[in-house]
Amino acid sequence: MSKIFIDPGHGGHDPGAVGIRSREKDNVLKVALRLKTILEGYGHEVRLSRSTDEFISLGERARLANAWGGDYFFSLHDNSATASATGFETFVYNGSISAATTKLQNAVHSSIANQIGIRDRGKKRANFAVLRLTHMPAVLVEYAFISNYNDETILISEVEKLALLTAQGIINYTGGRKVVAAVPNKPKPTPDKLTIELEFTSGTLRKEVETFLGSKLQQEIATKAASERGYSSAWIGKQADGSAANGDLVALLMGAGIKEFK
Ligand SMILES: [Zn+2]
Repeated sequence: MSKIFIDPGHGGHDPGAVGIRSREKDNVLKVALRLKTILEGYGHEVRLSRSTDEFISLGERARLANAWGGDYFFSLHDNSATASATGFETFVYNGSISAATTKLQNAVHSSIANQIGIRDRGKKRANFAVLRLTHMPAVLVEYAFISNYNDETILISEVEKLALLTAQGIINYTGGRKVVAAVPNKPKPTPDKLTIELEFTSGTLRKEVETFLGSKLQQEIATKAASERGYSSAWIGKQADGSAANGDLVALLMGAGIKEFK
């Protein structure tokens, strides 16, 4: 399993790019928090540069990742330009990079580009501080343009999708085994118990009830009578296969009797 460092851009007094309805620092933090949970579900160890709305310098972000000994570094951003600019793009450092960095960019880029639903602006290279200063393969993701109405809607409303597509790309490269949370056994349905103490002043009447509860034939007659008087015919089947409980049978007998004579 890998140590994956996730860097949601900006924070604190630095909002990043600001759209009409959202701010970059908030949008990318939401994706980062979900991404962390998803990757941990695949057995990876994940650390964030920030998990709250706080300012951290670019140098400090890289330092944190290096000091931790992260295997991979991902910086998450929203793009901004004119209102008509649209699309998704990724960056790696424009200096010397490892073959692993290129493969990682390919994996993450194609996973997102294939399904994000906006233009693929391509795999790019730039001299960004977090890419230059980190010692491990590092990719910077620009999900979409906060300055474009449709793109911003994706950034606001599709946090889960962005996190899943990013995680899928990372896992396609790093591997990872889904850690399935233990699913508790479904509790067996317990019969709905209504305990009634029945008192009798007459031994004969008491015997009637006892006989009914002990007699398949009487129960069959009662169930049939109840069904003919509007109770669900499914009760005949329940009585026949023994899945009806004592209380059900007594209730059917009572119901049939009352309907007959009222
Ligand atoms: Zn940014």
